[in-house]
Amino acid sequence: MSALVVVGAQWGDEGKGKVVDLYAPYADLVVRYAGGANAGHTLVVDGEKLILHLIPSGILHERAKCVVGQGTVIDPAVFLKEIEALNERGVTTQSRLLVSPRAHVVLPHHKLIDTLREKKSNAAIGTTKRGIGPCYEDKVARRGIRMGDLLDAERLRSKVEANLECWRPVAEDLGSGLPSANEIVGEYAELGETLAAYIGDATALVSASIRADENILLEGAQGTMLDIDNGTYPFVTSSNAVAGGACAGAGIGPTQIRRAIGIAKAYATRVGGGPFPTELHNEPGQQLRDAGAEYGSTTGRPRRCGWLDLVALRHAVAVNGLDELAITKLDVLSAVPQLEICVAYELDGVRLRYPPYERIDAAQPVYETLEGWSEDISSCRARNELPPAAQRYLARIEREVDCQVGVISVGPDREDTAELRNPFDA
Ligand code: GDP
Repeated sequence: MSALVVVGAQWGDEGKGKVVDLYAPYADLVVRYAGGANAGHTLVVDGEKLILHLIPSGILHERAKCVVGQGTVIDPAVFLKEIEALNERGVTTQSRLLVSPRAHVVLPHHKLIDTLREKKSNAAIGTTKRGIGPCYEDKVARRGIRMGDLLDAERLRSKVEANLECWRPVAEDLGSGLPSANEIVGEYAELGETLAAYIGDATALVSASIRADENILLEGAQGTMLDIDNGTYPFVTSSNAVAGGACAGAGIGPTQIRRAIGIAKAYATRVGGGPFPTELHNEPGQQLRDAGAEYGSTTGRPRRCGWLDLVALRHAVAVNGLDELAITKLDVLSAVPQLEICVAYELDGVRLRYPPYERIDAAQPVYETLEGWSEDISSCRARNELPPAAQRYLARIEREVDCQVGVISVGPDREDTAELRNPFDA
């Protein structure tokens, strides 16, 4: 048995897409366990860019089967578009891709409410307006519509009608009406018909894979600091992005997960609102944004950029039980002559090694300055090929957060990777 979970160790956008894509050739099954189309995993294959929001990036590897688990929320139209885009590129999805009938469905009014709430600036979280939050609200309130419901038009109709009644006062409060049940049922029952071959017993597939001793890769979305329970609440997503979320979201027991790998950028970024102590509003921040092309893959929004925050990373190592870190975008730091690294926060005169549960925005980062490097490192394939200053940077991370660095990503392409090994062999 060899299940391994890959989780974002910062605020999302850490390059999980690329790392999962590197690990997927070793996997028999890749399972996405949380989040929805608010995630955007960018893959570059043979120089060509492909963004997947819902389907695990493992789909690009013929050997791997892919599951979208019950912890996710699905916009069926986005799901269908991704299938079509993959098929156009010659990637087969039939018989290799299964979405759990227990996964909840994002409906048009979820997106509408999400957008209207974000417009009310005093309530803005900085969501991607994909309806994820309202969909999870329905799930927790036990009135959600699930992928399996799309296969039964009558059941769908009665659930949608009841659901709309719950949202009507909220929509009115925001100055809007709602789409009609007829419109929604017409569109979604048709999507259900089109997607029927992909909606199936994902739980059984995961269980069979465990029994067969296969390599299972559990793929998270967003990141630890955006996790509903462990992140910078309330500026978080509505699901459990952490490694523990994989158990419920994929239908796998904690005793069956053997390793957890955290993906972290060599610096820090955040999209949307919320505390970000190491954010840079000056020239180095812009240098990082430009060199790292830090614009959201789902929304195109410029990402907030800052120095590596080891307080947040230490927290990620702890709450995910990380065995290893994969450091991405190390190449981007070649553009910055002198590096700062945040080793602690100071709040009310107290030095903190872990993030406080609130008032993170009032925390002052405590920096240490490290010498940078300017060499192009994109052709380095081993850690000892990196300039000494880059090696020292990685060693410093390891010492501060007490976690080994495994993979080192030095460019967006698959090949631009140092220390790549079969993660299931460890
Ligand atoms: P994800 O959601 O965690 O997969 O992250 P995104 O896909 O939103 O953002 C990662 C971006 O960085 C993508 O555009 C990747 O192609 C790119 N990327 C990933 N790893 C590296 C790297 O090591 N160096 C550089 N320069 N770009 C990278």
